[in-house]
Amino acid sequence: MKFSDYKYKRPDYEKTKADFIHLIEQIETSKDLIEQLELIQKINKIRNSIDTMSNLSHIRHTINTEDPFYNEEKDYWDNMGPMYHELDTLFYKALILHPDKDNMKNHLGEQLFKLMENSLKSFSAEIIPDLQEENKEISKYVKLLASAKIIFEGKERNLSGMTPFLLSKDRSTRKRAQEAKYLFFLQNESEFDEIFNNLVLIRDRIAKKLGYKDFIELGYIRMNRIDYSSEMVANFRKQVQEEIVPVATSLYKKQAKRLNLDNLSYYDEKFEFNSGNATPKGDTDWIIDQGKKMYHEMSLETSEFIDFMINNDLMDLTTKKGKAGGGYCTFIADYKSPFIFSNFNGTSGDIDVLTHEAGHAFQVYRSKWIEIPELLWATYESSEIHSMSMEFFTWDWMENFFREDTQKYFYTHLGGAIKFIPYGVLVDEFQHEVYKNPNLTPQERKEVWRKLEKIYKPHSDYSENPFLENGGWWIQQAHIFEVPFYYIDYTLAQVCALQFWKKMRINRNEAWIDYINLCNIGGTKSFLNLLKHANLISPFENNCIKNILDPVKNYLKNIDDSSL
Ligand SMILES: [Zn+2]
Repeated sequence: MKFSDYKYKRPDYEKTKADFIHLIEQIETSKDLIEQLELIQKINKIRNSIDTMSNLSHIRHTINTEDPFYNEEKDYWDNMGPMYHELDTLFYKALILHPDKDNMKNHLGEQLFKLMENSLKSFSAEIIPDLQEENKEISKYVKLLASAKIIFEGKERNLSGMTPFLLSKDRSTRKRAQEAKYLFFLQNESEFDEIFNNLVLIRDRIAKKLGYKDFIELGYIRMNRIDYSSEMVANFRKQVQEEIVPVATSLYKKQAKRLNLDNLSYYDEKFEFNSGNATPKGDTDWIIDQGKKMYHEMSLETSEFIDFMINNDLMDLTTKKGKAGGGYCTFIADYKSPFIFSNFNGTSGDIDVLTHEAGHAFQVYRSKWIEIPELLWATYESSEIHSMSMEFFTWDWMENFFREDTQKYFYTHLGGAIKFIPYGVLVDEFQHEVYKNPNLTPQERKEVWRKLEKIYKPHSDYSENPFLENGGWWIQQAHIFEVPFYYIDYTLAQVCALQFWKKMRINRNEAWIDYINLCNIGGTKSFLNLLKHANLISPFENNCIKNILDPVKNYLKNIDDSSL
């Protein structure tokens, strides 16, 4: 069935609620495990159907934000989302407080119960007004970013419209483009400061109302960090500082040499080659064709997957009038269909959609047998392993996309992974400092950022930009405002994806089997247990980073980057 035939119907909340409560009451009084599991299955069916409708509405709204029908449906879901969520909470409570909880746990798995407990631990009716306030501040931030009107080269542009100029081959254009961009942040600095200050204070207040020492504790619960602590994360950051930062610094030094510069300035950091960064050599249809060919050749599993995606129209990739920005991958439960949304723009980012987002989609396609919605996707740090590893599994086909730029692509992809990890842990440590000391002033927070930046990105040269020198860089990092403590996830996942990269170069078949096994079980286990299942070493183990770093260094050393 094609995506356009997937049927949307707004659910009836009152009826759903009545059915839901009726089933919950039956669970509460049931003394028979088989019966309890059947009732749970019925509730999950309802929940999946609600999720299907909410998702279909969201997808169709983002494909055409001017469609009046789905505009109205969006308002409905914005409004009713929390009400439906409340029903989930009732279900969680019924299971957690049930006298036969342990029996149920044996059948449904430990992970589900941990997730449900976290959901209850991070919520109480008392904090609803605070949560609403938090959402309001986040919306203000999103709006403020979107309001950017940057006059550059005689035209008004938004932040993403500046990207081509920020990567220009002409150094003075790059510099002027960055200055124009940061002028927007400088002009709005006090507003950004106020929003973030409010967010920190609201979150601290919520944490304390719920009985936590600070927001760090609650932040870990919200992010479902089930089997690792802030101490383990701190130890991981220490390893990054000792092992990866020196390698990243040497990569930036090589980059400066390659670009014939004495020293990289902040506006040179993303500019890799004087001849320009790697780009795909064809239009959208050509890219999709190449992607189809690639997944057909890769394995039986990916072949089946890509045919399903293409035959059912489950990818919307081209930019169109009225289409929302950005990209995402989601899952339509009742049709057991992943969906990929993107806006192709002619950069190597288009290929990332077919490797990274398709990696997410492939995972949910493999784990579509899971009927418990909480367990279909893994928690964030684990989910990014599926996508980031697929980026490496597709390497053998990159020549089809990049032709003469293929070596550039490999060098940037692998080198970029190493350069990214220190930045990722910097974002994480900054957030720990901020929420440990919620009463810092905005200026003190910037000083913390700049101090940490000197540890994790010692090469950064902001001497020509007072806004950045004063510690303002992080204001553009949306995760810091929107989803606190979301970021270390990418670095943990990257370290795991690099293990797959290493393994596939020794024995591709073995690596692929581990990867498929990981995708097959979705989110039925916690992060560290998923790693065991896929024969991966935990990034928290002391030798893990060292283990992947040596082959990466060797690989990069053997590419003559000066010729690219
Ligand atoms: Zn991702």
